[in-house]
Amino acid sequence: MARLYNCDKCPAYCCSYGRTVVTKADIKRLARHFSVDFGTAMKRFTKQGEKSSERILRHQADEHFVTICRFLDTETRNCTIYNARPKICREFPGEGRCGYYDFLNFERRAQDDPDWIATTN
Ligand code: SF4
Ligand code: SF4
Repeated sequence: MARLYNCDKCPAYCCSYGRTVVTKADIKRLARHFSVDFGTAMKRFTKQGEKSSERILRHQADEHFVTICRFLDTETRNCTIYNARPKICREFPGEGRCGYYDFLNFERRAQDDPDWIATTN
């Protein structure tokens, strides 16, 4: 199926999602990537989610959204750990469409502004 979204034209809505859940394997991969031990990676890059057993990626302040993943380069809007990103990031949005991009495209067409960005700030 063809890809109907273009991440290069998007400010990374998916990375503003507040609950990017990571697995033990994801934390191990981050630890390897940054040459730190598992505990350090867990504490430095993740925090507890809604459930006590759940770890989610930490966020940073952002110009467009209230917060965004700490690993996003807020200037280029690219992932700074692309090869070491968590599984959930690798799988999103899958084949075909991205709902965020559909919305972005719709508004850009409606407002006749190819650079328009919906913000949450
Ligand atoms: S929200 Fe969709 S189009 Fe934008 S960066 Fe994420 S996957 Fe790509
Ligand atoms: S790890 Fe990378 S792809 Fe995943 S949410 Fe953070 S910046 Fe986005």
